[in-house]
Amino acid sequence: MFNKFVIFLLIFVELLIQVNAATYDISNLQGKTDLTPYIEYNIGDHDPLEAPPIEGWSQFTYSQIKLGFDNRVQWFRFELANPSAQVESYYIELDAPLLDHITFYILSQGRVRSVQSLGDNQVFPLRPVLHESFIIPISLHASETLEIYIATQTSGSTQLPITLWQKEYFQEQQNYQRLLTGSYIGLIVAAIIACLITFSVSREKSSLLNAGFIVSFLMIILTLNGFAFHYFWPNQPVLQQHAFYIFTCLSILFSALLARETLKHFYQDHQLMSWFKYIALFAVLLLPATLYLSYQAGLYLIILISIIICICHLYAGVMAWNHGLHEHQEFNYGLAVLLICLLLICVNNFSPFSLPISNLNLLQLSLIIHILFLAIAVTRSSAIEYDVFGNDEEATDQALLHSEQMMELQFAFRELEEKNQQLEKLNTIDALSGIYNRRHFDKRLQAELRRGRRELTPLSLILFDIDHFKKVNDTYGHIVGDEVIRCISMCASEQLSRTADEVFRYGGEEFAVLLPNTNLPGALTLAEKIRVAIENLTITLNEQTLSCKISLGLATHDSTKAIEPNSFIEMADSALYKAKQSGRNQVQTYQEVI
Ligand code: GH3
Ligand code: MG
Ligand code: MG
Repeated sequence: MFNKFVIFLLIFVELLIQVNAATYDISNLQGKTDLTPYIEYNIGDHDPLEAPPIEGWSQFTYSQIKLGFDNRVQWFRFELANPSAQVESYYIELDAPLLDHITFYILSQGRVRSVQSLGDNQVFPLRPVLHESFIIPISLHASETLEIYIATQTSGSTQLPITLWQKEYFQEQQNYQRLLTGSYIGLIVAAIIACLITFSVSREKSSLLNAGFIVSFLMIILTLNGFAFHYFWPNQPVLQQHAFYIFTCLSILFSALLARETLKHFYQDHQLMSWFKYIALFAVLLLPATLYLSYQAGLYLIILISIIICICHLYAGVMAWNHGLHEHQEFNYGLAVLLICLLLICVNNFSPFSLPISNLNLLQLSLIIHILFLAIAVTRSSAIEYDVFGNDEEATDQALLHSEQMMELQFAFRELEEKNQQLEKLNTIDALSGIYNRRHFDKRLQAELRRGRRELTPLSLILFDIDHFKKVNDTYGHIVGDEVIRCISMCASEQLSRTADEVFRYGGEEFAVLLPNTNLPGALTLAEKIRVAIENLTITLNEQTLSCKISLGLATHDSTKAIEPNSFIEMADSALYKAKQSGRNQVQTYQEVI
């Protein structure tokens, strides 16, 4: 009896899971969620531009979506339900920067609401949100359920996490992510510069080859995570299709040449030397062939050759060790780690199992470890050199060389600092509008309040918000809405004449203008100038023209006493509220509110 009850309960629970599986209730969303449990898939020979297939949908048995080596169209579908009485806007992220074609359908009550084509075979600036992975903004009306259909087609094999994001949370995470990537790139660039300096001082070919190896490896990583497409060749999708191969061939070439360079002192005539020569030749021949090979065949070849070269390196290392050469092995340790990472990538790509770490993270990790070993090798070899030089004359030569090295190092650090400043600047820019973001605003506001207090100069703050912006989104769609935000940011920036004045995207469709050393009448004139400029601005998009108005709130702080940044923002915000209440399309100042 009890057993029957348990079986009944299990069936009931399973039915419940099946019924709920395809619809996600967005009121449950906190920050972000992985949509995989709500997704069904369908693989077939359907045309992605025709209607989605009706039959043949199945649910995932794995917790991750994997696109195999399959040229056919792969369909995914899920539903999002908005039980609340408000319009809600979100981002859907497809985190596979190398996907060739994506067609994204949004259906409401069986009708197609929008169709968008994306993919890394299109130029980067055409994306609805300028981001490395594919981001699609969606909005759900009150009590609406949207059906989302996604058709993808790719010649490679990738994992496809599909995530639903709250917009603010997405921005926050992006800033953090960019900081991490920036520091990572900074570290690798430092290693490259160090290799180049070593080369310029010692004229050792191996340092130059090492720099080449690290550069090409870094480029593989930047291609895989989409950064290279975003920042280096946004208008060259053809290059984007082949970049992965090109840089893999180059890194194989550099590592084979490097092996020959390090081995030549010990194994002049050894068979290993000719193996590395053939591998280097093969990499050069493969370079033009990648234009004709299918992605699939190319990838198999590249993985195979990378594994062979790693094994050759390690074999050479073991032989050197057996001959009593126990130093200079760090490069081999680094390659041993790379070999393990490559084998793990094979598990990720060619087996149904998914490791908890992605291919990209594996590559990033192995590069860092490789550089670490390299740094150890360099430190150790310079320590050995100091031991060796005993007599006076050589010691002065060495001292000269040392001071030269120090100068070069200082030069490199300056260059590195400039690079870091560029990265820091990237962190302060809002991806959608191209003006400074909220993070930077918070920093600047605090700094300007302090400066105002020090110099006893007034500081003015304008907050403005686009009037009835929801209507723009509802009438023309979010993509047009985003474009409007971009145009208005630009127009407002153009109205400023002093270098210290700055416009920031405060959030959504709200902006802040910070005016150091500006009193109330001055700020009022500028606020009115911005209002009029935007009122007269005609935005033309897809042969539609539209215009927007804004409401502005102005607060001025005379710096005679200290004020918290938040209280200052609240002053401007209450003036903005007053402007909205008094009929919009106008400027109100804080003094008028009290
Ligand atoms: P009001 O005049 O009172 O400001 O009316 P409003 O319609 O502008 O009202 P509200 O400020 O509440 O609405 C802001 C809307 O702006 C809601 C949100 O969907 C939209 N929005 C916020 N951020 C973005 C964005 O990055 N892109 C787009 N297209 N829309 C956004
Ligand atoms: Mg508004
Ligand atoms: Mg608003």
